[in-house]
Amino acid sequence: MTFMTLKTKINFVLNLGLLPLQKLLPLLVPPACPLCFAVLAEDDGLCATCWKQLDFISAPICHISGAPLDVDLGPETVSLAVTKNPPPYEKARAAFRYQGSAAALVKRLKFSDRPELARLLAPFMVRAGKDVLRANAILVPVPLHRRRLLGRRFNQAAELCRAMARETGNEIAFEGVVRIKATRPQIGLTRRNRKHNLKGAFAVPKSMKDYLQGRTLVLVDDVLTTGATVEAMSETLRQAGAGPIYVLTLARVVRPEQMRVA
Ligand SMILES: [Zn+2]
Repeated sequence: MTFMTLKTKINFVLNLGLLPLQKLLPLLVPPACPLCFAVLAEDDGLCATCWKQLDFISAPICHISGAPLDVDLGPETVSLAVTKNPPPYEKARAAFRYQGSAAALVKRLKFSDRPELARLLAPFMVRAGKDVLRANAILVPVPLHRRRLLGRRFNQAAELCRAMARETGNEIAFEGVVRIKATRPQIGLTRRNRKHNLKGAFAVPKSMKDYLQGRTLVLVDDVLTTGATVEAMSETLRQAGAGPIYVLTLARVVRPEQMRVA
């Protein structure tokens, strides 16, 4: 049976209302691991092999940056990197280290246009973000430049916001911050050059200023690499009168110097 004839038959059955879609689909397409496509017994996430390659971030973590720490000195501990260079936001949290299955999931989410993956991943972000997801907080996705959005069709950060809000009920400001300048990739730039590269990259639209005034915000992205993007966004939002500002990402890069306490 070819795909088209199968599709036609499905439509025929659906049109007759003989079987609800939810009951019909699993019979035709067995659930599969979204990373390696191994067939799963139940449609509940990753296969055992891919699951084992997820690196959860757990205590001890830096109270501010959320980076895992190399020693446990209690829940309020702040890393040396943050003491030297405090970020312009209150706290950042991430569910996974950006490696193994988490890196593969981020790539799949970004490039294969599968928003349902965001629904699978949102519960992990909600759990990792329990210190930052206040009930009255507004979720703000890190925006793509319009030109990139056209090429990619959807913004993965916005999809993660949508999926989290389904669980938590938080409001979302999809256009809370807009990118007004296309920036070159941050990879390979020094900290100073990254800052320069992002200068004037973001703006708060006039229509959003009243709404965001004094509000608690959670900036949401798929991955935090250098942190320069959310830092630039935080500065723009603070200048517009918003805050306190928190950051929540699915994954983050962890550099050894971020794990040190002394
Ligand atoms: Zn798998």
